Amino acid sequence: MNYQAFFKKQLADLKDEGNYRVFIDLQRKRGQFPEAVWTSDKSHSDVAIWCSNDYLGMGQHPKVLAAMHDAIDRCGAGAGGTRNISGTTHDHVVLEQELADLHGKEAALVFTSGYVSNWAALGTLASRIPDCIVFSDSLNHASMIEGIRQSRAEKVIWKHNDLEDLEAKLKAADPDKPKLIAFESVYSMDGDIAPIKEICDLADEYGAMTYLDEVHAVGMYGPRGGGIAEREGLMDRLTVIEGTLGKAIGVVGGYIAASAELCDFVRSFASGFIFTTALPPAIAAAATASIRHLKQSSVEREAHQATVETVRRRLDVHGIPHVQNPSHIIPVMVGNPAKCKFLSDTLLTEFGIYIQPINYPTVPKGTERLRITPSPVHTAGDIDRLVCALHALWSDCQLARMPMAAE
Ligand SMILES: *Cc1c(COP(=O)(O)O)cnc(C)c1O
Repeated sequence: MNYQAFFKKQLADLKDEGNYRVFIDLQRKRGQFPEAVWTSDKSHSDVAIWCSNDYLGMGQHPKVLAAMHDAIDRCGAGAGGTRNISGTTHDHVVLEQELADLHGKEAALVFTSGYVSNWAALGTLASRIPDCIVFSDSLNHASMIEGIRQSRAEKVIWKHNDLEDLEAKLKAADPDKPKLIAFESVYSMDGDIAPIKEICDLADEYGAMTYLDEVHAVGMYGPRGGGIAEREGLMDRLTVIEGTLGKAIGVVGGYIAASAELCDFVRSFASGFIFTTALPPAIAAAATASIRHLKQSSVEREAHQATVETVRRRLDVHGIPHVQNPSHIIPVMVGNPAKCKFLSDTLLTEFGIYIQPINYPTVPKGTERLRITPSPVHTAGDIDRLVCALHALWSDCQLARMPMAAE
């Protein structure tokens, strides 16, 4: 086989479809996020980032940076081993206690990323529990899908956020078999929110465990930033709450929070937890500082929601079509991969605004979009420049508008 020709052809097909991914080379500026320097073809220019998952700007919070510096000075760079072989530092232990407390659970277990936590925890639970059937929401994240697939357990996909479909499928399953319902709270592409309470009610009725991915809600919802389940007083009804330290927490890493037995079980059997180097202690210390801050400060959450409302209102005034949803994610619908890429390229090169186009396979074909994620550190001036740029592009490209709202 001509391997190089094969790779080339596959990539050419992606490019023809408009689905080839181009990375934007950025240098974030500490203390000035969302401003960053974009490097392209040997030139450098300033851009404002409008698509980061550092939702609250905690990636540059002084307390987080101080904790990280301090840990490097105390402990050095790496953890020096897997968790089992010398890599469990005191910073990891403290972080896991902080996470268990955040979600009102007995224990928590930290992984190298949110992706790995879903893949390893779901993979381990579903493969080790004999005859387990996994009921997976149809829009679950790739990391959950891969974990379930890897477990080789029986999988039943239910229609996204559809309680009737979930119940019908639970009812049709063998009542004696163990069951696990896997879903998310905030779905990151449409920004809609799962009916968590009703799903827990069904789980109770049919004897199922529940596994909730709160990746897009941790730090951002609930009085202490415990997520949507905290806001709705439901944390104790979930078997497993999974989250990331890489989005609103502003660092990197992932975790599950659950009963002491369940965490110990995953700790003891999950290959993706056991056979990999632990996160650097500085990462654990920074994440702990970020979580502790967000537990006692709602300033960031409130400012964040206010920015989201302002951006939405300003888009409405110009009739820029965006999906209404109860979360902080603003999907501006374009519905065509080439146009979506063109809009994103033009925003970057002409307006100094960076919004990554979201195309297939991240979202279904025909629903290509610009996914805007405001933060509390975007200023009124940043918002002005964003909305004016979109307004100009919508006119230039003769894109469809919604009926315009009053100023
Ligand atoms: C980003 C994401 C993850 C993975 O988290 P990382 O820490 O980035 O690996 C898991 N689930 C969902 C829903 C996500 O959007």
